[in-house]
Amino acid sequence: MPIVLPDGPGLAAATDALRAGRLVVVPTETVYGLAADARDGCAVARIYEAKGRPRFNPLIAHVADLAAARQLVVFDGAAYQLAEAFWPGPLTLVLPRLADCPVSQLAGAGLPTLAVRVPDHPVALELLRAFGAPLVAPSANVSGRLSPTRAEHVAGHLADLVLDGGPCRVGVESTIVQVVAGRIRVLRPGGVPVEALRGWPIDEVAAGPAAMPNAPGQLASHYAPDLPLRMGVRRPRHDEALVAFGDRQPAGAARTINLSPTGDLAEAAANLFDVLHRLDDPRLAGIAVVPIPRHGLGAAINDRLRRAAHRP
Ligand code: AMP
Ligand code: MG
Repeated sequence: MPIVLPDGPGLAAATDALRAGRLVVVPTETVYGLAADARDGCAVARIYEAKGRPRFNPLIAHVADLAAARQLVVFDGAAYQLAEAFWPGPLTLVLPRLADCPVSQLAGAGLPTLAVRVPDHPVALELLRAFGAPLVAPSANVSGRLSPTRAEHVAGHLADLVLDGGPCRVGVESTIVQVVAGRIRVLRPGGVPVEALRGWPIDEVAAGPAAMPNAPGQLASHYAPDLPLRMGVRRPRHDEALVAFGDRQPAGAARTINLSPTGDLAEAAANLFDVLHRLDDPRLAGIAVVPIPRHGLGAAINDRLRRAAHRP
């Protein structure tokens, strides 16, 4: 699986592959996505096959701008204002499909709604513009495993081509909100902290395994490294790897990586999956994580860690 630079020839190879119904790994500001032509049911089916997803879960349609999103879904006033305020960016809107929405029913898991987003990454945007149609792009990892935030995290068998855009700036998946009758319901915490939605008509956060059992990001066990993971650890064991944060860096672990020595939650989110990838070493007994603050991006970080810690 070639890893190529997102220059002219690289982008041309990517659009050719997508037009032929093949899969391309694309950098976004959140994580690397496994992209396919959203209109092509066979290409979408290849995503589920490559990821080994247990079910056909709904995927996010990525578009180049708000105008392109309006070809897919119905925006009410609140949805329109959210899009204007947060796009391009890590906020996904779940909205009613238009009657003539070209996105395949398989991509939307047959639901009357569709999740849409404009990614804030020059390579993703350039590819979307060159391709000229929506791309579905779940995280480019085998189902249930850690999301890739660097090209080299991507497993070799997943796609025909990887566009290398360097490390992802945000590092956790998008915040997903559903907008119904002008009210906003948070379905998954992510790259836009809920605090940033303050002032918007927001209902109680519905995230949690029970809220949406049919959605991969909502499964209790997800984003999981091979090693067992413990959270809220103040005394790591000598055979564990330690994920530290700020000045919370207790001694005693076999190996330690600090998510952000300065205690910056945005930096911690950007480093999270890369650090878990690097510490997931079969010679160790487990991964211990110090308590991570819950505010701001800490909500998404704790959410991903909880799912990584859960064993089915
Ligand atoms: P990802 O694997 O990060 O692309 O996540 C896709 C997520 O989008 C799923 O886990 C769902 O939680 C969410 N999603 C996609 N479409 C819908 C929809 N129509 N209704 C509710 N949630 C959706
Ligand atoms: Mg994922």
